[in-house]
Amino acid sequence: MSKLFERVALLGLGLIGSSLSHVIRQKGLAANITGYARSEATRKRALEIGLVDRVFTSAAEAVTEADLVILCSPVGTYGALAQDIGPALMEGAIVTDVGSVKAAVVRDAGPHLPASVHFIPGHPIAGTEQSGPDSGFAELFANRWCILTPLPGSNPEALAKLIAFWKACGSNVEIMTPEHHDLVLAITSHLPHLIAYNIVSTAADLEEVTDSEVIKFSAGGFRDFTRIAASDPTMWRDVFLNNKDAVLEMLGRFSEDLSALQRAIRWGDGEMLFNLFTRSRQIRRSIIAAGQDTAAPDFGRGPPKG
Ligand code: NAP
Repeated sequence: MSKLFERVALLGLGLIGSSLSHVIRQKGLAANITGYARSEATRKRALEIGLVDRVFTSAAEAVTEADLVILCSPVGTYGALAQDIGPALMEGAIVTDVGSVKAAVVRDAGPHLPASVHFIPGHPIAGTEQSGPDSGFAELFANRWCILTPLPGSNPEALAKLIAFWKACGSNVEIMTPEHHDLVLAITSHLPHLIAYNIVSTAADLEEVTDSEVIKFSAGGFRDFTRIAASDPTMWRDVFLNNKDAVLEMLGRFSEDLSALQRAIRWGDGEMLFNLFTRSRQIRRSIIAAGQDTAAPDFGRGPPKG
């Protein structure tokens, strides 16, 4: 793949920022990469493992002369970051992000970005429960969807270039409005994380069941929830604070459906339970058929990391 950009600036060098760096390097998508991270430890590590050619203590310095700027920190930081970089951005630069919510990013970052740049928010639907500069890998985005939410009047050439970038990273690209993105992700990602955090917390509070029993017998289903509930607390706090309406809407529907299940169990309605579980099984099979997961029995665990 030929070079798409001269200089990419990655603002945030955790799981997503470092994975982007790896894939940009592997596919030769940019001549050089500059980076910004909040802590000295991350900046030092990013240089050590070659994530960036140069690293800066200020985001404004990192974006100088960058023709692609990608915000890769938690969503709650985007307003302040956009304010910092606004005056330093190169004319004609594409500014995008990877945040897990979109309407709040448009609201918080948009007003600080000059009209001379192309602001096109985005969200790669790819991740793990790991975080930090060592957690990234080049294949993270392969065969995953990346949703772009261009704004009314977005420049078509800039959009085409950003689509080409994500395709070169191995992703399939879908375009939608920020509001629709937030609704879809509320049910497919945000609510499942909330449920996982809640079930792990409920188990931790049980007095009749000991902690060691929870760990010992976790293979009964609990283990998969603990993997999701190990996700980065800052990132997920920001997701719920910034996608409040859509999450509350989906949570309302979920609670109603949960009450129906509760009722079926209470009244011994086996047919209702069986039909619902059969439908769920079919959805799982469709996800595997669409290549978005594997049917391997040890999915998601793999060999222990050193
Ligand atoms: P991460 O591994 O925790 O890395 C976050 C990065 O942002 C770190 O470099 C961190 O710097 C920096 N940062 C944190 N707080 C900051 C602040 N207040 N000001 C400036 N920089 C700050 O997170 P991640 O998983 O890569 O997530 C980054 C973004 O990707 C989030 O917006 C998230 O919604 C989105 N996303 C995540 C996933 C996922 O599964 N993880 C998937 C898709 C999209 P230090 O290291 O110096 O603290």
